[in-house]
Amino acid sequence: MSRAKSLKRQEMEKQAPEIRITNFDEVSLGFTEEMALIEANRCLQCVKPTCVNGCPVNIDIPAFIKCIKDKEFEQAIHVIKESNLLPSICGRVCPQEIQCEQECVLGRKHEPIAIGALERFVADWERKNQLKACPECLPPNGIKVAVIGSGPASLTCAADLARFGYEVTIFEALHGGGGVLLYGIPEFRLPKEIVKDELEIVEMLGVKIKYNHVIGKLLDIHDLEEMGFQAFFLGVGAGLPQLLNIEGIELNGVLTSNEFLTRINLMKAYKFPEYDTPIDKGKNVTVIGGGNVAMDSARVALRLGADKVTLVYRRTKKEMPARREEVLHGKEEGIQFLFLANPVRLIGDENGNVREMELIRMKLSELDESGRRSPIPIENSNFKIKTDMVIIAIGTQANKLLLKTIPQLKLSKKGYIITDEEGRTNIENIFAGGDIVTGAATVISAMGAGRRAAKAIDQYLKEKLG
Ligand code: FAD
Ligand code: SF4
Repeated sequence: MSRAKSLKRQEMEKQAPEIRITNFDEVSLGFTEEMALIEANRCLQCVKPTCVNGCPVNIDIPAFIKCIKDKEFEQAIHVIKESNLLPSICGRVCPQEIQCEQECVLGRKHEPIAIGALERFVADWERKNQLKACPECLPPNGIKVAVIGSGPASLTCAADLARFGYEVTIFEALHGGGGVLLYGIPEFRLPKEIVKDELEIVEMLGVKIKYNHVIGKLLDIHDLEEMGFQAFFLGVGAGLPQLLNIEGIELNGVLTSNEFLTRINLMKAYKFPEYDTPIDKGKNVTVIGGGNVAMDSARVALRLGADKVTLVYRRTKKEMPARREEVLHGKEEGIQFLFLANPVRLIGDENGNVREMELIRMKLSELDESGRRSPIPIENSNFKIKTDMVIIAIGTQANKLLLKTIPQLKLSKKGYIITDEEGRTNIENIFAGGDIVTGAATVISAMGAGRRAAKAIDQYLKEKLG
């Protein structure tokens, strides 16, 4: 066996579970330089690297790993930033296990290269050394493009357009930038200082960000056209929470993960009273859902001081859409999992506070045409559990606020914007990408969509304006 294959994949140090549930600090501590070098040395430097195809923004993975191997960390960050301006973020939250790392040839017989951890290592190295590599931009062409929303799709689209020479303004509804990176994903997985830092790189390219601008309310696309914007990218995400249609949903102590996580992340409720946002703190918390949002809500509830947190999911652990690593972390921290169960009713006390949840047991059907096994209720299998706080994390949908001000825009049955592969909508100067097109997906898929749309916008404007 070659040396590369025989070396074990390096694993990041982590805060111990009993310590980390008492704080909101980052769980995974990253690679040391020594670990990064060992890991980089495992890379085979394949002539036809399959990992690059697994990355939605096609980072030249072998090239940046080679730079690490040669201890050329600054060069490594330049290679990454040619394709990805948010490497500290992606190194932390991308589901690499089903993207680049899944395609790594070493993974066929051994453990794949820890590509995400290496990406994070160089991005963190850059920050520690107070460097801020910023790619070159073409000379300004004076053409104005408006980008609505400041999530990963918009940031990538805006950055690429600025690099092509456009005058780009982002309009963001909230008072901070980053979309879900800011208000959704908790500090212990993605420190907000990092989001702020990577946002600054986008601003260094000349992109202007106007906060507290709800487009569709304060201004609409027509107003922006009158202000001289020639093309638009809609990256407004899919932030409208989906509710459960069951009895008792109005009880005190029942809330959506959106509200819960926004209060915690954006409004720093976990630092109350230092920050003046109060938050409900349950002692016996039940979270409904099986994705990253449900896992994040459960782990936040634990850190707020819950004695018991139970995650209820109607399928099994195998079908959970949450990242494997985060499910493992949650389990280590003491989250209880109740699989193959679905809530049917919430029961309150005389003061209208939630006290119990009635559930029904589920089984999975045979594989259906879509290749999934549907959950089916098992008759007469109802049971109750005690709970004093319920967090609903069963998914989100498109927010109509902006879309209803553009009635000609073609939407799917579920209310998402219909585009081609490059983000073109049925209106020639409006492009879209990210969750508002695909429904809830991933940071890197949103970034990939932003990148493709930037190219299409460039092509459209060149053809239109000559
Ligand atoms: P968003 O990030 O949703 O950003 C949209 C932005 O548009 C927001 O800032 C919003 O305020 C703004 N906006 C909306 N309407 C308007 C308007 N009318 N005017 C102006 N601005 C507007 N993905 C991963 O890859 N890994 C993870 O670990 C992961 N964990 C997640 C955890 C949570 C709690 C959540 C909620 C999601 C998670 N995701 C994860 C999914 C990922 O964050 C999203 O797929 C991604 O952020 C989508 O990017 P986007 O740019 O399309 O939209
Ligand atoms: Fe290295 Fe794996 Fe990519 Fe080959 S596929 S270049 S081994 S990371």
